[in-house]
Amino acid sequence: MNQLPAPTIEEIKLALSERALVFFYQPKVSFVTGRITGAEALIRWRKEDGSLVPPALFIPLAEETGFISEITLGMFPVLLDDYQRIREIQDGGHVAFNVSASDLDQEELVIAIESAIERNLIAASNLRIEVTEAAALSSSPRMREWVQRFVKHGVELALDDFGTGYSSLDAIRKLPFATLKVDQGIVREMHRSERAAMLVHANVLLAQVLGMEAVAEGIETEYIYRALMHSGCREGQGYWMSRPLPLDGYLALLKQRPSWPASHAGLLRTVLMSHVVELRRVMDWVYSARSEVRSAPASLIPPAEVRRNAFSKWYEGDGRALSGHQTFEAMRVPNLILTETYELIQARASSGASPQELEDQLKKLAHYSVVLIGDLLRLEADLLLQEMKR
Ligand code: C2E
Ligand code: MG
Ligand code: MG
Repeated sequence: MNQLPAPTIEEIKLALSERALVFFYQPKVSFVTGRITGAEALIRWRKEDGSLVPPALFIPLAEETGFISEITLGMFPVLLDDYQRIREIQDGGHVAFNVSASDLDQEELVIAIESAIERNLIAASNLRIEVTEAAALSSSPRMREWVQRFVKHGVELALDDFGTGYSSLDAIRKLPFATLKVDQGIVREMHRSERAAMLVHANVLLAQVLGMEAVAEGIETEYIYRALMHSGCREGQGYWMSRPLPLDGYLALLKQRPSWPASHAGLLRTVLMSHVVELRRVMDWVYSARSEVRSAPASLIPPAEVRRNAFSKWYEGDGRALSGHQTFEAMRVPNLILTETYELIQARASSGASPQELEDQLKKLAHYSVVLIGDLLRLEADLLLQEMKR
């Protein structure tokens, strides 16, 4: 495919006007259920002879010349048309749409998204927008304003290709990302390099700690799929599950309701890690709330999510799939005590209680955390053993 001659901008313009640009759909699979949750729309240029030009051969030129905005605005209705057919088969599945930096810097895209939601062509929660780090890093205040508008409706923003090129952690802070897509270059190296595998795990954890979901792309082998399934990554896409498919191929696949391996063990691992991080944050916050360290930044103050901690969220959410399991049930009481203790510490520390006055609560927090961590490890071992016996 890469031997094709580079097209001119005029040819690209013609392709758009002649509707020769189409989407292929690559399924995303949940590691928790093993089922398709949605798909990423990937643009292709279908030539008259039926051959396909990959985006790498024309998107960069479209970006350089500014024509990309027309492609994006011209292809969004195509995505919506395709989605009407998708939702006839899979209600509630999502579609992810790739946009470039300059698309986010103008109001037209936001207006198109808002109008689609209002006309019920797609529910906000079923639409995801993917942008690369470069776009995030170049974000202007105006861009952030447009993005906030669709994010407020419930459209999820994903940071694409995270951890590639001139990667910067700061990109995460620039826009309200709900998802971090770990770059496929590093995912594909997981089975060859222990360091690559550790980096992927660290990125998944980073996403979790920041209250984001991690998605992996570039899964080419079952080994990598299973490693990611146990890493706490929420979803994945890659050739091992399915290559990007033309719309009809994707619809046919959805009809078959395929499934891949699934496990709750990954979620348990990230809940455990997030729990430890949160515990430390509470400790840090109590420390900084002492009168002599009043200059601590406001951001150190645990936000509401910390009171509804990662463990509780999991226990009352995804974790319920494990209810009935003895260890799962045993965690109910320590979880309640921990939640109450978090709230008590926050209330007391906010009203200026001294560290001595918080001592009992902090000890209680540490004690019940150890209980929960022990239970989480036991539950994880049970799940892994069950999986190995299957
Ligand atoms: P992306 O958004 O990161 O999309 C993932 C790319 O990885 C796709 O390439 C997909 O086919 C490929 N891929 C998925 N799984 C595997 C795997 O297991 N192994 C390997 N080797 N590759 C895998 P594709 O379709 O060629 O797209 C390349 C890039 O072009 C996209 O990267 C995205 O940045 C851009 N792009 C695609 N469609 C659009 C679009 O509609 N608008 C804009 N602005 N950019 C687009
Ligand atoms: Mg993408
Ligand atoms: Mg990507």
